[in-house]
Amino acid sequence: MAVRLSREQFDALVEDAIAQIPGKFRARMQNLVVSVEDWGPSRDLLGLFEEDQGPQRIRIFQRAHEEMARTEKELRRIVTDTVWHEVGHYFGLDERQVHAIEDRRERLRGLRALRKR
Ligand SMILES: [Zn+2]
Repeated sequence: MAVRLSREQFDALVEDAIAQIPGKFRARMQNLVVSVEDWGPSRDLLGLFEEDQGPQRIRIFQRAHEEMARTEKELRRIVTDTVWHEVGHYFGLDERQVHAIEDRRERLRGLRALRKR
């Protein structure tokens, strides 16, 4: 049931998600690296925001997204949600604040919450 994409195709979904972020926020995202990897520290983890050392970094885990998605449309939605979640952390929102925004959005769409950190 999972959807499989090449890394290039998946990167394009991530780029599309970033492109949907309003310009006034995107303009403030210079000190941020976004990278795509196959898997994160656990197989159900979709993304991670890291600011420990060096540039701030968002890591997006391709295979975890693909495992979760039944269609390419759904994959695109999950990628967008993950990117926005992690960008929320970049802008200083904590987990509770990001989840509050997501819960509201997901309730509107009748969707379950997915796991990110
Ligand atoms: Zn988070």
